[in-house]
This record gives sequence, C-alpha cells and structure tokens, in this order.
Amino acid sequence: MKVKNLSLKTKILLGYILVILITIGAIGWSINNFLKLNEAINNIMVENYRSVVASEGMMEALERQDSAELIFVFGQQDKALDIFQENQMEFIKHLSRAEDNITIEGEREIIERIKEEYQEYLEKFLVLRQTFNQDGFEVAQDYYLEEIMPQFEDIKEQTRDLLIINQDQMKLAQQKANDDAEQAIYSTIIFSVIAVIVALACGNYISNLIIKPTKKLTEKVKEVADGNLDQLIEVSTKDEIGQLAHEFNSMTQQLKDYEEMNINKLVAEKKKSEAIVKSISNPLLVTDNQNKLLLMNSKAEKLFALDEQQIKGNHVLEVIKEERIFELITKTLQTGKEQKIRDAEALKLIQDEKECYFRMTTTPVKNEDNEVNLIIILLEDITHLKEVDQMKSEFVSMVSHEFRTPLTSMGMAVSMLLEGSIGQLNEEQNELLTVVKEDCERLNHLVDELLDLSKIESGEINLDFNSIKVAKIFEVSLRPFTEQAKENGVDLVAEEVGNLEVYGDLSKISWVITNLIGNALRYTDQGGEIRLSAEKKGHKVHIAISDTGKGIPKEYQSKVFDKFVRVSDDQAEDTGTGLGLAIAKEIIEAHGGRIWVDSEVGEGSIFTFTLKLPK
Ligand code: ADP
Repeated sequence: MKVKNLSLKTKILLGYILVILITIGAIGWSINNFLKLNEAINNIMVENYRSVVASEGMMEALERQDSAELIFVFGQQDKALDIFQENQMEFIKHLSRAEDNITIEGEREIIERIKEEYQEYLEKFLVLRQTFNQDGFEVAQDYYLEEIMPQFEDIKEQTRDLLIINQDQMKLAQQKANDDAEQAIYSTIIFSVIAVIVALACGNYISNLIIKPTKKLTEKVKEVADGNLDQLIEVSTKDEIGQLAHEFNSMTQQLKDYEEMNINKLVAEKKKSEAIVKSISNPLLVTDNQNKLLLMNSKAEKLFALDEQQIKGNHVLEVIKEERIFELITKTLQTGKEQKIRDAEALKLIQDEKECYFRMTTTPVKNEDNEVNLIIILLEDITHLKEVDQMKSEFVSMVSHEFRTPLTSMGMAVSMLLEGSIGQLNEEQNELLTVVKEDCERLNHLVDELLDLSKIESGEINLDFNSIKVAKIFEVSLRPFTEQAKENGVDLVAEEVGNLEVYGDLSKISWVITNLIGNALRYTDQGGEIRLSAEKKGHKVHIAISDTGKGIPKEYQSKVFDKFVRVSDDQAEDTGTGLGLAIAKEIIEAHGGRIWVDSEVGEGSIFTFTLKLPK
C-alpha cells in the first residue's frame, strides 16, 4: 500500500511508531554499550585480577617454603615442616585458583610448567630431608644450593611470568575498556543525533502533513470568500486532508455552477425587465440611489434627445436639466414612497418643437433591508388633457364675457326697479326682485372670478413686480377684516416680521392673503384665532395663514386648489364659488412660488405660500 493512500491518523501513528522505535533503538544501543563496558571492566576486575592475586599468593607461599627449607637445613626441622606444609597448601590453593582462571593465551602452559616444576620441587624437598637425615648438614646444604634453590628460582620466575602476563592482560583490558567507553560515547552521540534528526524529520513530516495543506486551504477559502470561485486544490493524497481538498474542490465547483445558474437567471430577469421598459410607450427612466441613470427606453431617449449608451451611469441632473424631475426623485429617495405630480402641475417639456405636458410618477424599488436602490420615473403625455382643459378655460372665459354685459344690464334694471324709479312695487314683487338682485350679484361675482382666472391662466395678467415689505402686505390684507373678525369673536393677529421683504405685486399678493383670511374667517368659529406669519427660508419667504377652524379632510387637501372644488360638507356652499384658491394658486405660481395646505380636521388649517426675496 502506498503512503499517500494511508489515512492521516495512520500516517501520524506511523510517525510516532518510527520515533518510538528510534528512541528504543537509542536506549538499546546505550544499554548495549553499558553492558559491553561492564564486561570489559569485569574482565579486568574479576578474571585477571584473580590471576594476579593468585600469582602473588603463589610467590609468597613459595618464598615461605624456601625459608622453611632453609630453617630445616639449619636444624629446626619440626617448625620448618610445619611452615612448609602450611605454605604448600597455600601455594596449591593459589595455583588451583590460577588454574581455574585461565583466560590468556600461554597461561595454561606456564601453569602446567609451574605444576610440573613444583612437583619436582616437592620431591626435591623430600630428597633434602632424606639427605639431611642420612648424610648430615653439609651434604644437605650442598643439595639445597645445587638442586633446590635453582628449582625455587625457576618456579618463582614462572610465577612472575604468570603475574606479568596477567598484569599485561589487565592493562590491555583497561585499554580496551577505555576504547570501548570512547567508542560507546561516540556511537551513542551519533546514534542520538541520528535519532533527534529522524524525530525532527518525523515531526516536520507530520506537521507538514497537516499545516501545509491547511494553510493552502485557508488561502483558497479566503479567495472563495472574496468571490473568486476559480479555486482548485491539487489532491495528491487520499487521507483526511486529501478528502477535505476533494470536498473543497467539489464545493467550489458547485458554487460556480450555482453562480452561473444565478447569473443566467439574473441575465434573463434583466433582459425581461429591460424588454418591459423598452416596450412601454411612455418615456421611462431608471436611476439608482445615487441618482445615476441606469436605463431609459426609446421614448425617453427621444424626449430628452439622448443616447442611452452615452449617458448610462451619469448623474440625472447632468443629462436631464429638469429640476422638477430631480426634486421628485430626491423626495422619493427621502420618503421611500411613490411620488406624483398632479395634472394641474404637469411638467412642461418641448417635444418635436411642440410644448407637451407630462404627468410624472416616481416609484421606488426597495431591497430586502427596505432601502431604496432603484427609482423608476414614468412620464405620461397628458398634452391632450391639457388641450381639452385649455379649451374648457377658453370656453368658460368666452361664456363669462358673454354673460358680463347682460348681467350688468340685468343688475342695473333690477336695481332701478327696486329703487322704485320706474314704478312702485308691491311687497311680493319687491321680494322676488330682491332674490333676483342677489342672484345677479352672485353671478357677477362668479363671472368676475372666472374672468380673473382665465386672464391669469392665459398669461394676460400683468404683474407689477416690486420689493414690498411683508408688514405692509399684512396691513393692507388685514384692514378689511378687522371689523368682521371682531363681530365673529375671532382673534386676527399678524406676527412681527421686522423688515422682511418679498418681490412681487402688492395688490395680487394682498388679494391672495385676503382670500385666505376670508376663507379662514368663514370656517373658524367664535373664540378661534387666525394668525399671519412670515419667515425667510433659504432664498424664499414662507408666508403662512393659519386658523383654528374646522380643517380640511386629507383627501381634499391636494384638490382644494383646483377649480370649482369645495369640501362636500361645506355649509358655506351657497356663498363660495370654489375658485378662490385656484386663482390664489395661479397668482402665486405667476410669482414663481408654490402654495400648499397642512390641515387637521377639527384643529385648523395652515395655508403656506412661497415668494422670492427682492433681487
Ligand atoms: P370658495 O370660494 O368656495 O371658498 P375656495 O377655492 O376659496 O372656494 O375654497 C375651496 C374650498 O376649500 C372651500 O369650499 C372650503 O370647503 C375649503 N376651505 C378653504 N379654506 C378653508 C379653511 N381655512 N378652513 C376650512 N376649509 C377651507
């Protein structure tokens, strides 16, 4: 079986076993060296030392025996025999020890010779004893000198030889022990170094087995996390790491497949939505939350004379210089809600060298976190509606004109009749004519307002622009109402505005405020308050007329500025025409301002309009 096919656990186990085996080997080697050393020391201490001691013992015993022989020759036979025998036994004891301990070459021969010669020596001692007894002291003395002494010297010589060879052997053994010890030190060092190297190599191999591929894997995982899915790890082993690498590779492959699938899906979705956008017959634009243009259909391209490919990614204001479009987009971004401009405020754009009116809707598209990330801007051409509207206005204007002269003569005639200059009227006639007169006045009022409106709408009205003090406007507008307010029990107050000035037509602006105060008085009960205030905000002045009256329901708030619109439960229905606010709006817009209402039913209303600051 190949190593790379083994499992990680087995590999680590094998590594450990190898290290353990090497360690055991090193220990075994050291023990072996110790044993060897021990043996060498043993050789010196036990074997040779014993032989040395035996040789010395033999020499000593031999010397004593020799002395005993001399004592014998000089006459003390009994004592001499005792000493001799004692030392004879000693000699034999040592000799046999030496014999038992033959370890060196030549030792046996020496011992054999000593044995032989000692045997002769003993025999010669017997002869000496006989000679002494038979032939007397002198013959015995000669015998000693001639036979025994040389024999004694010879044995002594042999015994010394035995001692020397054993001593030499001891030296040799010591030398060998030294050599062995030295060798043991070196070999143990070498063995230990090898063991350490192998252990380190094993450790390194094992850690590489895990760390290297783990590092590699970590790098690859980071790459994947960064969205770079083209990551493959080479699978060279079949162990756990190899399996992990294999799993990683199949994971990245799956991720890639998944991403591709998603991309395909997204591309399909994108194409679909692009097709939808393109197929819409009204101009349509799509921007992102940074106001960058993402998409526009051919109608929009035509309307703004742009090429989608060239303007893609540009800021909307850079390519479409229509501030109102940008304002509506900004409002959608801020509120996150769909925004519309009313038909009455339709966007005026030039298309095919013709003035066209567009209704505009901006719809936010939100992500999962409910944040706006796209805005769809849809423009609807309502020029035809505007044209109908204009025709209507022209018609109303014409009819009003036509009404004016007969109404004036009718009014005059009724007045004359009522005055009685033509003849006295009875009560009934008087009553009837009074109703006719009131109706005439109402109709006159309506006709006046209609004519005013059509004049402004058609741009016929001439505005006399001047710098005017707001305080002055307030004063002019309030004057006609002081009495009525008092009668109605309503507080009519104008706030302190200092030297604040606006740029406009005093009479027209006063007309607007008068109209607003008139309305406020009409819908505010006794004890209420009507307040006029003005404030500079940026380049504009905001003028507000607030009341604590009955308020306007939400659904009417955007409509009350349209012509003939009146809140349905309006009790003052008979007196109003529903044109006042429409005229006010036209006047304010002719000044380049805006007018709107904030109102809460039962709490009151605040009508606010803006005017420019003096130049
Ligand atoms: P009108 O001539 O009928 O007053 P306007 O255009 O001035 O016409 O007003 C339109 C309608 O708006 C009124 O009929 C009334 O219902 C409502 N309205 C205007 N001003 C106020 C106000 N201050 N408080 C309550 N309702 C108001």
